Amino acid sequence: MDAEKLEHFRRTLLEQLTQHTANVRESQASALEMVAADDGVKDSVDMSLQDVSQEIQLRLGERESKIVADIDQALLRIDEGSYGECARCGKEIPERRLEAVPTARYDAECQTLIEAADGTDDIATL
Ligand SMILES: [Zn+2]
Repeated sequence: MDAEKLEHFRRTLLEQLTQHTANVRESQASALEMVAADDGVKDSVDMSLQDVSQEIQLRLGERESKIVADIDQALLRIDEGSYGECARCGKEIPERRLEAVPTARYDAECQTLIEAADGTDDIATL
């Protein structure tokens, strides 16, 4: 993959990273506003805010931290020069696939095999 293409994907990944960080902040802020606006919980608002905040952190945290980790790994592969290669068979991942899924680690063929192996990406089980 040439430097121009790599730079294109790097920018796309960085934009997604920024977007996911913003998503988390917005969700947290609106949930906290809802709790603060509820008169019924005024007396225990400090406690409620804490509970809600923790619950959101937990729920969003798992999903978002996986997405962020995927993006981080993709950016790392760009730095290492292995971006766009299938992590299982080493073939080039088609650019069309990378446009759709910039964090893709496998080509479609290997992805299908991995998903067939019960959704695990542990290649030792294939
Ligand atoms: Zn492959």
